Order: sequence, then structure tokens, then C-alpha cells
Amino acid sequence: MSDSRQIKVGFIGAGRMATALAGGLISSGFTSAENVCASDTYESAREKFAHETGATTLEANITVAEQSDIVILAVKPQQLPDVLQELKGTITGKQLLVSIAAGSPLSLFLETLGDSIRVIRVMPNTPCLVKQGASAFARGGKATEADASLVDSLLSTVGIAVEVPESQLDAVTGLSGSGPAYIYQIIEALSDGAVRMGLPRHVATQLAAQTVKGAAEMVLETGEHPGALKDAVTSPGGTTIAGIHALESGGLRSSLMNAVAAATLRSIELG
Ligand code: NAD
Repeated sequence: MSDSRQIKVGFIGAGRMATALAGGLISSGFTSAENVCASDTYESAREKFAHETGATTLEANITVAEQSDIVILAVKPQQLPDVLQELKGTITGKQLLVSIAAGSPLSLFLETLGDSIRVIRVMPNTPCLVKQGASAFARGGKATEADASLVDSLLSTVGIAVEVPESQLDAVTGLSGSGPAYIYQIIEALSDGAVRMGLPRHVATQLAAQTVKGAAEMVLETGEHPGALKDAVTSPGGTTIAGIHALESGGLRSSLMNAVAAATLRSIELG
């Protein structure tokens, strides 16, 4: 379909992620509110979704699946087996199925719904809620290049997206999936350091968070190697190199590398 505004997008589960994604799809013009609908077991969730996105809600998952070109599964992983049983026979190669349930492999969808389905598994992260997500996705079944490109555009309405083989999604979980928590700790620690040096807490936290955001933007916008950007701001005998020496003494880089490895291994264990 060349004009994405005609695409009907249905969410099964109208919780936080579904609301954020639907909001991104509609506000970016990817599709219009009339073409988005969602189902949820709870009336309160349906009401909140409708209020925040302007889209329609329905009680029955099957009706959403029948009416949609793209069906996004946005329930918790433990709720997924029941939902898939319910959608058996309704989801065929006709719709593109997109799952955002953490840790649920492509094989689960193919085994339950059959080999002819087009399915894409996404690992999003919480900053999708503020349109700054970092998502990765993997294709399965009969999902095509065009399906992948559609999901790329869809996820790009709430941040950035990259396609990877499914075997790399555990490492994605260890990096961008769990990563926001690492950065919250870094922001808190930077703020603590500044409070120790006399700044008020609210000033320190604001400056720390904006510094992380600004440095991230520099990496993304310039495309420069982070080490080159670091070299560009460290003058001989200056303040920054004194700070960097303290970070190196504390093992900051090996701690962060270990964090990504530990979370990746845990993701493999849970899968
Ligand atoms: P949520 O709890 O806010 O939303 C899930 C919704 O599904 C709820 O409103 C619930 O009532 C509804 N639901 C439960 N059973 C249902 C059923 N049988 N039929 C229809 N609706 C049903 O959860 P969330 O934070 O939006 O997460 C959704 C998915 O996204 C999860 O699978 C999670 O693993 C994944 N995910 C979330 C994040 C995140 O940052 N929140 C990050 C990565 C992946």
C-alpha cells in the first residue's frame, strides 16, 4: 500500500505502549485516527486509549484483527498465549502481525498461527512513550521487505528503528531495552556529584539530564566517533581530562560493557 494513511492499524491491548505508538502514528500523519482501533479487556484502558489518541476502541480482539491491515500485539508476554489461541484462524497471511511483547520468539507465532503468517517481532524501549524510542525488529514467516519497511516507518514515529536478525534481539534487550535504566543511574550519579559540589538538586538533575541528551544528539547528528567527540572537548591539562581520569579509575567503561553483557545473558536465560 503506497499511502500509509489508508492503512488500518489495530492494537490488541490498549495499555501504555499501544497508546504511545498510536499517538505517534496519528500525530506524525502515518495514519489517521479513523484508521486506528484497539481492543482491551478493561474498559478503563479502552477509555484512556480513546481519550489520549482520538481513535476507536472495541471490546473484541477478533474484531480488531479482522478489521486491520496491521495487527499490533501489545499485551504482556504472559497474556500472549491466550490471545494467540483466540486469534487462531483470524490472523492469516492477509494481515501483518507485529508483536512488541518482550522475549516472545517468532517461533511462538508461527507454531500457533501457522507458517503462512507475516510476522515481525519488535523490541521497543520505554522512551517510545516520549517519542525518543530506540527499537529493533526482526522478520519472520512470510514477512516481506515491504512489511519491514512499513514497520520501520511505523516505529520511526516514536523514535528510531533498526532491523536485525532475531538472534541479535537479546543483545538489543541488553543495550537499548535495559539501557534507559543505566542512563537514569548515570544521571542520578552526575546530579549527586554536583550536589556534593554545592549545586541545588533541581538544577543539578536538569543540567545532568540535558548534558546526556545533548551528548547523545551530538553523536547521532554528527555521526562522529564518540572518542573523537571526547578528544575534541579535552584540552591539555584541563578540567575534562581530570574528570575522565576519575571515570577511568572507577572503571566506568568496563562497568557499562559488563552491564550490557549481563542483561543480554539474562535475556537469553529467560527466553
Ligand atoms: P500495559 O500493561 O500497559 O498494557 C497491556 C494491556 O493489555 C493492558 O491494558 C491489559 O488490560 C491488556 N490486556 C491484557 N490481557 C488482554 C487480552 N487478553 N486481550 C486484550 N487486552 C488485554 O503494558 P505495556 O507497558 O504497554 O507493555 C505492552 C507490551 O510491550 C509488553 O508485552 C511488554 O513486554 C512490551 N514492552 C514494553 C516496554 C515498555 O517500556 N513499557 C518496553 C519493551 C517492550
